[in-house]
Amino acid sequence: MIDRSAACPGTGPTLAVHYPHSVDGTLLFQDKPPLGEASEHDDVRFVIGTGGSQPYVTYGGQRYNLNNVHFHGHAEHRFAGQPFAPLEAHFVHERATGPKGYVVFSVLVDARTFHGQSQHDRLIASPPALGESRGVHGVDLTAMLPESHATYRYTGSLTTPDETGSYFQPVNWVVFNQHAKAHQDNIQSYRSLWGPEGNHRELQENDPEPNFYSYH
Ligand SMILES: [Zn+2]
Repeated sequence: MIDRSAACPGTGPTLAVHYPHSVDGTLLFQDKPPLGEASEHDDVRFVIGTGGSQPYVTYGGQRYNLNNVHFHGHAEHRFAGQPFAPLEAHFVHERATGPKGYVVFSVLVDARTFHGQSQHDRLIASPPALGESRGVHGVDLTAMLPESHATYRYTGSLTTPDETGSYFQPVNWVVFNQHAKAHQDNIQSYRSLWGPEGNHRELQENDPEPNFYSYH
């Protein structure tokens, strides 16, 4: 949980986003054990293709390549005093060289009712069947980020376990202050792929208290 009032203005690692205008990849409904049923650790993810220009960020002078964008319903992050957003997108950037490490963008997604298709809608509207995938072309990743790049940052862990059951850390979390939007029908159909328990990790106790820093 992020308490905006408790966050300190940050002067931390410099973040620069290098996303090409158009990205091709694979839309995968990832099926982790137990196989054959949508479980809380499964998600629908846009896996970035290796051909073409690679989207990446630099964070504190290090390069992190974008591996995938995936979705959780409902959100995993929550701002103090506000309800959970119905959906959260994670942009997983993996360190290009040196020890394993991540920079993960968290973008909370609200439901809207007006017509038109956002880039989020393109990825959640009609996912492939569980365990299957299909190609998606021309995704504008920049359009999936909120207009304002004001963010809150802290160091935490991944929210799904690896093969050994552990939650990798440290992860440099970058939580956008503004929300993005997708159509409510698409958010509902995404969430209906799971039962009422959804595919989110339970809100973790802030223990020890993470240090939140805001960047504007
Ligand atoms: Zn995630």
